[in-house]
Amino acid sequence: MVAAYCTQLAKQRLSQESVGLELAAGRVLANPLCADQDQPPFSRSTRDGFACRAQEASKYGFLRIVGAARAGDAPAGPLPKGAAWEIMTGAPIPVGANAVMMIEHVERVGEKVRLVPPRKLKQGENIVAQGAQARAGDQLLPAGAAIQFAQIALAAACGYPALEVVVRPRVAILATGDELVPVASSPAPGQIRNSNAPMLAAMVAEAGGEPWVLPAAADNAESLDVALTQAAEADLLLISGGVSAGKFDLVEPALARAGARFHFTGVRIQPGKPLVFGEMPAGNARTIQNENGAKCFFGLPGNPVSSAVTFLLFAAPVLEALAGRLAYGPRFALARLTGKAGKLAKPGLTRFLPALCNFGGMAGQVPEVELVPMQGSGDLAALARSNCFLVVPEDARTFEAGAIVRILLS
Ligand code: AMP
Ligand code: MG
Repeated sequence: MVAAYCTQLAKQRLSQESVGLELAAGRVLANPLCADQDQPPFSRSTRDGFACRAQEASKYGFLRIVGAARAGDAPAGPLPKGAAWEIMTGAPIPVGANAVMMIEHVERVGEKVRLVPPRKLKQGENIVAQGAQARAGDQLLPAGAAIQFAQIALAAACGYPALEVVVRPRVAILATGDELVPVASSPAPGQIRNSNAPMLAAMVAEAGGEPWVLPAAADNAESLDVALTQAAEADLLLISGGVSAGKFDLVEPALARAGARFHFTGVRIQPGKPLVFGEMPAGNARTIQNENGAKCFFGLPGNPVSSAVTFLLFAAPVLEALAGRLAYGPRFALARLTGKAGKLAKPGLTRFLPALCNFGGMAGQVPEVELVPMQGSGDLAALARSNCFLVVPEDARTFEAGAIVRILLS
C-alpha cells in the first residue's frame, strides 16, 4: 500500500527552487541535466606520450617530433606525415593524429621517437574522442536524480553554477507520551527524555525532508487535538507513540477526529507491529497534496527501535517520493552471519534486529554481520552500536553462523 501511494506521489508536480552547487548535495534534480557542449569538448589524450598515426607507429620506423601540446593548449596540427607530436595527459589531440603512444612504450633518440616492438598501437588508443561521453544537448541525468558528489562534478563540468532542485517536503514530527520531558531537562522518576524527536528529525533530513519538530503532546484528547491541528501545515506527519493497544494510546481516535482515513493499523513485523498509515485532509496551500487533496501520516510505535525500523521501511520511501526522488524504498543487502545466532524467528512476524555489519571486509567476500545484544525495543545503546538490521523472515528456522542473510541498511 505504501509503494502504491509512492507511485501516485511520483506523478505530482513538485515546487522547485535554485541552489548553488556547494549546497546541492543531498537534494533532488527538478529538471533534467543536459550537456551544454560535447563531453569531452575536444578529443584529448589520456596519457603522457606522443600523438601519431597508429598505422605509422605500428611499422616501428622513427617519427619526427614536430611539436608539443600541454593541457590547456588549443588544438594544434595538422600532423605532417611520418611525424609525432609530444603530448601531455588532458591535452587536445593535434589534427591528423589518431592515437597516442605512451611515454613508457617508446624509444626516443634526440628529436625522433618510435614505438618499441613488439607493441602494437590501435587507432583511437589513449584518446577520448570529442563527444564520446555525451553530445551537446544530450540528457545526462533525469529529473528526480539524487544529487551527490558525482552529479555535482558533472553539473560543474557542464557549466551549471546552480541547479533547479525540488523543494524539501516539510515533515512534522509529533512525539506523544505523558512520560516525555525535553532533552535538556532532568527526568523525574517515571519520566524519560524525548529521544524520538531528534532521532526522527535526523532520519527525515537524511531522507530529503525538512524536519519540523513540534512540542511533545500529552496522552489526552485535548493535547493531541491541538497538536494535530498545528501539524496540518506539514507535507507529511510523523507521530511517535500512542498507537499500541494500551489504555492511553489515544492517537488513533484523535486522528479520526481530525478526519483521518486509515489504510492500515498494523503490520506483521517485530518491532513495529502497531504501525499506522493513513491520510488526512490537507491543511493549507503550501502542502503537497495528493489527488484527493489529502496528505499522509504515519503513527510510529514509540519504542525507539520500533520507530527507527518503521521509519526506514515505510516512512522513508514516502518521504523520498515526496522529495521528488526517482528511486525510493528501503535498501537491503546480503551479508554473512557471524557470532551468536540460533532461533530468532517469531511465527507470523518478520523481525528486524539491530546488527553490526563490517563493510570493510576482504576483497571478494560477502560482508560479515553480527547481531548486537539488545534488551528490548527501547535499547538505545544497542541501536547506537548497530549500523543495520538483520532481517529474520517469518518462516526462518534456526540461523546458523556462516549463513547468508538479508540486512536492512540504515
Ligand atoms: P508507546 O508506543 O507510546 O506505547 O511507547 C512505547 C515505549 O516507547 C514506552 O516505553 C515509551 O516510554 C517509549 N517512548 C515513547 N515515545 C518516546 C519518545 N519520544 N522518546 C523515547 N521513548 C519513547
Ligand atoms: Mg505512549
